[in-house]
Amino acid sequence: MSTVSGIDWTEITWNPTVGCAKISPGCKHCYAESMAKRLQAMGMRGYENGFELTLMPERLSEPLERRKPTVYFVNSMSDLFHERVPFDFARRVFDVMGRSPQHTFQVLTKRADRMAELCADLAVPANVWLGASVENRKHGLPRISLLRGIDAPVRFLSIEPLLEDLGSFDLRGIKWVIVGGESGRKARPMRSAWVDNIKRQCDEAGVAFFFKQWGAWGMDGQKRSKKANGRLYAGRLWDAMPA
Ligand code: SF4
Repeated sequence: MSTVSGIDWTEITWNPTVGCAKISPGCKHCYAESMAKRLQAMGMRGYENGFELTLMPERLSEPLERRKPTVYFVNSMSDLFHERVPFDFARRVFDVMGRSPQHTFQVLTKRADRMAELCADLAVPANVWLGASVENRKHGLPRISLLRGIDAPVRFLSIEPLLEDLGSFDLRGIKWVIVGGESGRKARPMRSAWVDNIKRQCDEAGVAFFFKQWGAWGMDGQKRSKKANGRLYAGRLWDAMPA
């Protein structure tokens, strides 16, 4: 089932797989995990296995059936490159995306190594954007190099939750950067100086910058609701998309 996302940088989510497993510190308070458990408790179809990785082949045709040009976030509730997703199944997902040129697909992963492995012998369709999640230096930055090695029309980074200062990093080949802080009761703080550092490097490299949210910790370092902290950075909205 495709659903309206509620995510500011996309329109609709499409989950041809559901479930995942934690792989790095950015996963600690995984939204998909708590949501999957809630949906399982509600008896929602597709979530019978809770957060266990589950293939959903019956959902593969959904984008083909939708005519209205739509921006899809692929696998908001999973990771298409999870070790238990066979490459044959991931290829079927890419095939559907390629046969739906009316849409744009945003595929985001923390398993950039598997994404690079699959894409080594697969032509990424022109309407597919590939992204890597980056939360810190140790786990996140190596994913950027792996992403850069893939021939894709748009490569992007989702730097959320930003957990530390990323220092200086290489943005060559990257067209879009999304930055956000963590939300929720146990959210870890994001400092405004860490965002400043990323924004400055995006400006220098000519990369589109999207500020998603402060999350639970505001620009002033105070904890309050995500809504109260809002989406303004340096006094304005930053919602650039790749050209
Ligand atoms: S990779 Fe994404 S979906 Fe999977 S556990 Fe981590 S945050 Fe959750």
